[in-house]
Amino acid sequence: MQTVIEFKVKGKKEQFVAIEEAIRTALFIRNKCLRLWMDGKGIGQYDLNKYCKILAAEYKFASELNSMARQAAAERAWSAIKRFFDNCKAKVPGKKGYPKFKKHGRSVEYKTTGWKLSENRKAITFTDKKGIGKLKLIGTYDLNYYQIDQIKRVRLVKRADGYYCQFVIEIDPPKVKSEPTNRAVGLDVGLAAFYTDSTGYAEPNPKFYREGEKRLRKLQRRLSRKYSKERKQNKQPQSSNYHKARNRVARQHLKISRQREEHASRVARCVIQFLDLVAYEDLKVRNLVKNHCLAKSINDAGWYQFRQWVERFGQKMGKVTVAVPPHYTSQECSNCGTIVKKSLSSRTHKCACGCELDRDFNAAINILKRGLSTVGHTGTWVIDPNDWGEGTATSTGEILFEQVRSRNQESPCL
Ligand SMILES: [Zn+2]
Repeated sequence: MQTVIEFKVKGKKEQFVAIEEAIRTALFIRNKCLRLWMDGKGIGQYDLNKYCKILAAEYKFASELNSMARQAAAERAWSAIKRFFDNCKAKVPGKKGYPKFKKHGRSVEYKTTGWKLSENRKAITFTDKKGIGKLKLIGTYDLNYYQIDQIKRVRLVKRADGYYCQFVIEIDPPKVKSEPTNRAVGLDVGLAAFYTDSTGYAEPNPKFYREGEKRLRKLQRRLSRKYSKERKQNKQPQSSNYHKARNRVARQHLKISRQREEHASRVARCVIQFLDLVAYEDLKVRNLVKNHCLAKSINDAGWYQFRQWVERFGQKMGKVTVAVPPHYTSQECSNCGTIVKKSLSSRTHKCACGCELDRDFNAAINILKRGLSTVGHTGTWVIDPNDWGEGTATSTGEILFEQVRSRNQESPCL
């Protein structure tokens, strides 16, 4: 099991220039490996690794990057290739994600060499010839808590508000003993609520979704006012005010994504704690990200993070998490199984059998049914909407109390 901890780094301007240069080199190697694979026949992962050495001999700037960091860059190319192969093999409908050359890199990855932590582990020195040097690590985490050989990878990441250093640490999964709760729940996601579960409870979307979105729109409008077509036509760079505005947009994105991550992990922990099984739709990220509606893209990203946290906590606490195929979950009647066609805007499910439910509530029940049938536990789970999570005192008790209290309310329409 791996965990990632992250520090912001403090350094001089020259050092950041050196980080940028290392990022560019890693990207260069990745793209070169991709080129090799595209032009050759039967090029495998091993060939890419060997190719790193050739590149280092040929290009001085490539030789300046730590050899394992070069390997890591080649691995990135390989994972893009592998993803493509896997999609082809799985016969994923539509585009298979043929690997693309990248113009802009955001990070460079070192493995177990090319860096050294200071005595008190509050600073890191990069020892290859890229000249990054010693960077101060700013953050509340304590690296002294881990053995050096637990650190498998070190990444330098560029963000809109500065540079960050991530440590990928191999840890033993903590032995959390949890009693079976005999509770299973299906979750449905939509725009109306963060999720709706199969007991009918709707977790509202966090406030910052809308607030952050509003601010983002404002900043984006400002940015587009500063964009000059003339400069573009004359092949001149955009004004410095434009670039400042662009950075402000990027920082707002960053802020939302941090809030989202925090929220997703908090809600996920809360959900999984009192359940043995969680079922949810297996929505593909690819289908999620490609849309132009800002509110929807914020929601989708939040949902994806939420799912990852549910799976992470599930693994940690020994719970079952099931991703079910997302077909007809909202169309099918959860009572009799008939397909009841409805448009995206209709909020209620109304079937000839007399079943009338909130649209997402109906979907959540279907998702749970599918989840249970997948793991073959049908009938052994108690799904009682009235006792879910009651009387449990934990650190997240307050949040849970909130949920219990608001569980009978209708899903809020935003
Ligand atoms: Zn029905």
